[in-house]
Amino acid sequence: MALIVQKYGGTSVANPERIKSLAARVARYKALGHQIVVVVSAMSGETNRLISLAKEIMPDPDPRELDVMVSTGEQVTIGMTALALMELGIKAKSYTGTQVKILTDNAHTKARILSIDEHNIKQDLDDGYVVVVAGFQGVDANGNITTLGRGGSDTTGVALAAALKADECQIYTDVDGVYTTDPRVVPEARRLNKITFEEMLELASQGSKVLQIRSVEFAGKYKVKLRVLSSFEEEGDGTLITFEEENTMEQPVISGIAFNRDEAKITVLGVPDKPGIAYQILGPIAEANVDVDMIIQNTGADGTTDFTFTVHKNEMNKALSILRDKVQGHIGAREISGDDKIAKVSIVGVGMRSHVGIASQMFRTLAEEGINIQMISTSEIKIAVVVDEKYLELAVRVLHKAFELEAA
Ligand code: ADP
Ligand code: ASP
Ligand code: MG
Repeated sequence: MALIVQKYGGTSVANPERIKSLAARVARYKALGHQIVVVVSAMSGETNRLISLAKEIMPDPDPRELDVMVSTGEQVTIGMTALALMELGIKAKSYTGTQVKILTDNAHTKARILSIDEHNIKQDLDDGYVVVVAGFQGVDANGNITTLGRGGSDTTGVALAAALKADECQIYTDVDGVYTTDPRVVPEARRLNKITFEEMLELASQGSKVLQIRSVEFAGKYKVKLRVLSSFEEEGDGTLITFEEENTMEQPVISGIAFNRDEAKITVLGVPDKPGIAYQILGPIAEANVDVDMIIQNTGADGTTDFTFTVHKNEMNKALSILRDKVQGHIGAREISGDDKIAKVSIVGVGMRSHVGIASQMFRTLAEEGINIQMISTSEIKIAVVVDEKYLELAVRVLHKAFELEAA
């Protein structure tokens, strides 16, 4: 007997039929004697619909009230899932994040899980119930409903698996595993039987939406056995996220390509080149809770420096007004501008550690297509570039080919 957490994403609970099919899978696992916790997302499209409704009332919605609204999507699907299980004669009980007590900080719309009270769930499992938990939501210390950021049900699933010391966390979605890149962009992309935790972390952080990054962080921290599978297929082992690195001789140099259309670039030109400048520019941005990703500083011969960084597109205007109101006059920057027509493409692979020339191969491949690189950042197992948004898909396709990632 094993304890398994199964998380089902939006397309896997998109309508009553999909929910019945989910319930049938759970019934099969239950019949084998396993204890099952199900985590569900809202029906596909529902979270977007709720956000649009909020914006029709208030263009930049109050985060606390937005969380009250968007968390309702998952409250509907937990009830439906419990009903579908009951219809199959299975004892089932649903829980919202607040009912479980998935305690988070109070950063509405991007809250972090602090702790999970697993006692009631454990008791229910021991009493023979399938427990159905709402993904994406939690509660802060003052009882406010919070949400965990888009794609956050993955994180609920893995965090619950960690808290319950589950044997495995299965992420059911609309693809049958993790691919070399998004198969919707490159149809030749290949499913990976396994991927190392480190690579999955990089891919997720560089924008592969198949797993939310925080779910991968949890899996790493608590050594959760994590697998990505299709809810549309009965068979198949999906992709296992492993903690061991393969023999590097056989390991391909590049395992996958990720991309991100959600970032915007902010450029601060003609800043005096002196100590403390980076802090004066980025300090107020951090204080406003705006996350910064890539950062580049370039010093010219004339004693001034240009500073470029990226933030989430949704936060570009906020960052620009902070800089213009609080920073520009103060540091004497010549010009501050924003560009949200950019995209980031990243190649990822642990094999990079033992191979040279990967960056030049990437830059040559892009140059041959006339794609200009605007920013570059690297880590031990990743090279990321920012390009004009209109070249994104072309860049992903040519890199996928150049690094021989297609199906054999
Ligand atoms: P869910 O609603 O089940 O959470 P998501 O839409 O969040 O599903 O994630 C699954 C999607 O992730 C796939 O449909 C696919 O388009 C996309 N995706 C992006 N990169 C990859 C990748 N490397 N491998 C597989 N899927 C990927
Ligand atoms: N329903 C939420 C979203 O659309 C959470 C999730 O699907 O994981 O982002
Ligand atoms: Mg998702």
